[in-house]
Amino acid sequence: MRHLKDLDVHDKRVLVRVDFNVPLDEQGRVSSDARIKAALPTLTYLHEQGARIILMSHLGRPKGRVVDSLRMGPVGERLAELTGWEVVCAPDCVGPEVQDLAQSLLPGHVLLLENLRFHPQETQGDEEFARALASLGEVYVNDAFGTCHRAHASVAVVPRFLPSAPGFLLEAEIQAFQKILHNPDHPYVAILGGAKVSDKLPVLTNLLPRVDRLLIGGAMAYTFLAAQGIEVGQSRVEEELITSARLLLQTAQSQGKQLLLPVDHVAAVHFAEDSPYEITGPGIPDGLMGLDIGPRTRIIYKEALADAKTILWNGPMGVFEWPEFRKGTEAIAQDVATADAYSVVGGGDSVAALELLGLQGNVSHVSTGGGASLELLEGKTLPGIQALEQA
Ligand code: AMP
Repeated sequence: MRHLKDLDVHDKRVLVRVDFNVPLDEQGRVSSDARIKAALPTLTYLHEQGARIILMSHLGRPKGRVVDSLRMGPVGERLAELTGWEVVCAPDCVGPEVQDLAQSLLPGHVLLLENLRFHPQETQGDEEFARALASLGEVYVNDAFGTCHRAHASVAVVPRFLPSAPGFLLEAEIQAFQKILHNPDHPYVAILGGAKVSDKLPVLTNLLPRVDRLLIGGAMAYTFLAAQGIEVGQSRVEEELITSARLLLQTAQSQGKQLLLPVDHVAAVHFAEDSPYEITGPGIPDGLMGLDIGPRTRIIYKEALADAKTILWNGPMGVFEWPEFRKGTEAIAQDVATADAYSVVGGGDSVAALELLGLQGNVSHVSTGGGASLELLEGKTLPGIQALEQA
C-alpha cells in the first residue's frame, strides 16, 4: 500500500473520502465536530502541499434520495470555521456542474461534495458512479476508517481508477490493528465487554489463539457464567449461545489460555438507573440482575493487566451509562491507561469512558470505527483497505 506522503499531490485535485457523518442537533447544526477534527491532520497536510482538495462523505441514512436535512452545508460551515479555509459546498456529488466546480478549484481551496448517499449507487458499489466520482480528482485518499467495512463506491471502487493511499487517520488504524492482530508483544491481554455474545463471538474466536489472557465483562459475561452452571438470576443471557460459550471456555483451557470471568457483580433489583443493588458473587441469586463487575473482579482484572505488554479493550464492563454501574468500566479505563503496554481501545462506550476520565491521551491508539474495527478483529478483510492494497 502506498503512503500519503508517496503521492504527488502538489497542485493536484485530490479526492478525499472522509467520515463527516457527524451528529446534528434539532436545528440541523453539527453537535459534535470530533469526526471533522479527526480528518484535519490529513487535510492540513494536503493544504500545506498546495493540493486542490475535494471532499466526499455520507451523512446519515438518506437511503438513495435527496433529504434536505442531511445536506452537507452545516458540515462545510464547521470545516471552514475550524480551518479558516475557503470551503465551497457542491450542489451534488456528480454531474456537469460539480465537474466544473472541481476543474476550476484553486490550490488551497476546498470543494465539499453533497451527501454521497443521496445516490443509491453509492451503497450499491456501482462502478459507473465510482467512475464519475473518480473523474473529479487526479489522486484519491481514503481517511474514512469507519466506512472501510462497506463495499461502497466511494470507498471500495474509486481506488481502481486513481493513484490511491490512506490518509493519516486510516493509516494509524491499519497500523494499530496490524500490530495487535499480527505482531503483538506478550503478555497480550484482551478485555471484551458489551451487551451481546452474539456480536462478539467471532471476535472472541479470532482473538483467543493470539492472546494470553481474555477478560470478559458486560452482559456478555452472564452467558459464559451460565455455561459454567453458575446462577445468574435475571441477568441478560443468550440461551442459544450457551453451547458456543462452553465450547470457547473448553478451547481456552485446551490452548492454555486464561479466560477470566467476573467472580462478583453489582446486581440490581431491576434494570433502572436508580435501582437498589447489592454486591453478590460468585453467582447472582434469583430476583437480581448483574449490571457491572464487582470490586473483587476489578482487583483480579487489574492484576491480570499489570504485566501486559499489549492490551486490546473493546466494550464496557457494565451499564456504563448509569453512574452506579460504571465503576467496573472506569477501573478498566484506569488500568489500561496506566499500563506500560501498547494499548488499543475501540467501541463507543470504552472510548467514552476514557474521555470521561480524561485518559484518551494515555493509550497508544483510540480506534474511531465501531463496525470496521470489529470486522478487523474478527479477522475479516475490509473492502476499503483491500481496495487501497490493490490500487
Ligand atoms: P456493545 O454495543 O455491545 O459494546 O454494548 C454496549 C451496551 O451494553 C451498553 O449500552 C451497556 O449499557 C450494555 N451493557 C453492558 N453491561 C450490561 C449488563 N450487565 N446488562 C445489560 N446491559 C449491559
